[in-house]
Amino acid sequence: MVKRIKTDSLAEHNNLFVYFLLIGIAVVVMIWTLEEHYNVILPYDRYGYAISIIATLFCLVLSHFFARTNLAKVLLFGYISLYLISLTIASYISSAQTGDIYSFASTLQWVPILYLVAFLFLPVKQAIFSSIAIYVLLVTLLLLTYLGFIETKSPSLEALALNISLTHAVYLFCMIGVMRLKQTHKDSQLKALQMEHAANNDGLLGIGNRRLLQSELNTRVAKNTPFSLLLIDIDFFKAINDIHGHLVGDDILREISQCMSDNLRPQDTIGRWGGEEFLVIANGAKFDTALNLAERVRSAVENHAFSTVGKVTISIGVAQFHENTSASQTFAEADKALYKAKGNGRNQVVAA
Ligand code: GH3
Ligand code: MG
Ligand code: MG
Repeated sequence: MVKRIKTDSLAEHNNLFVYFLLIGIAVVVMIWTLEEHYNVILPYDRYGYAISIIATLFCLVLSHFFARTNLAKVLLFGYISLYLISLTIASYISSAQTGDIYSFASTLQWVPILYLVAFLFLPVKQAIFSSIAIYVLLVTLLLLTYLGFIETKSPSLEALALNISLTHAVYLFCMIGVMRLKQTHKDSQLKALQMEHAANNDGLLGIGNRRLLQSELNTRVAKNTPFSLLLIDIDFFKAINDIHGHLVGDDILREISQCMSDNLRPQDTIGRWGGEEFLVIANGAKFDTALNLAERVRSAVENHAFSTVGKVTISIGVAQFHENTSASQTFAEADKALYKAKGNGRNQVVAA
């Protein structure tokens, strides 16, 4: 269950990346068309847009057809960073020379996408480090140009450069906040899964506990699907504890649980009902099948050479669930049969 949730969320995240790439290509095509239409396109943008579409398609193919999504994410981030930073400098120089701030402003509005791509697709630490590095680089470049390395005819260009240094700091701050929330959410999700696992499993044996068995029984009864119950009790287990100590007793419990699990069918569920008692829900099994299964398990335990103690046996009571009765009624029948098995001398299977 844990595994499935993890894989699902990973697939979802990879799908998000593919959608992001597709939307990216569509947007670049639209902007290119728009700028051509209004005749505001800069000559180098034509190459830039074409290369961007090819680079995005490359990442798409890498991720979707070659399953190299992580590499595609890093490449995409590297490409966008390189492209936008060089474009920012070029458009600043161009705007400074012409006095028309359109080219600089139109580039600047795309720079925050770098932070977004970093935080969406890179691991947390890398995302924080790379976006801060990009911000520092951007501000340094703007500052250098602002400090007089480039003459500008437009005072509003200088104001825009200063403005961007401040607003980008706010973007960055917000992204780090969102990232921390995302991390907290991920941690809580993991913790919830661990707690669910701890609540449903036996700490000593690693199999389901009574709570899990009860919930599976309720599901079976609600769906009215056929099943049989095998109630299993270890024979003279107290003597093992008394003679060899509780630690050896614990080892025998583990060994016996493993031996029984190995002899069940994939569709069966085994859990610890309590103490040295186990319950098997034999899914889809009618009486005869359940009796054969119980005999197989009993005989496997009897023939198993246990460490330290050698031979251990079990007694099993078997009952079949009938429509319109309850799980507790079936359990009570299995319990009665188990009691009979003990009374008849143990190491045997008794049918209810
Ligand atoms: P019977 O054949 O009638 O079932 O005899 P028994 O000795 O198996 O049954 P009894 O109910 O008298 O004793 C069960 C023992 O199982 C007592 C208890 O201390 C021991 N036990 C229950 N849980 C654990 C556990 O987790 N570890 C160990 N070592 N012993 C346990
Ligand atoms: Mg018992
Ligand atoms: Mg016992």
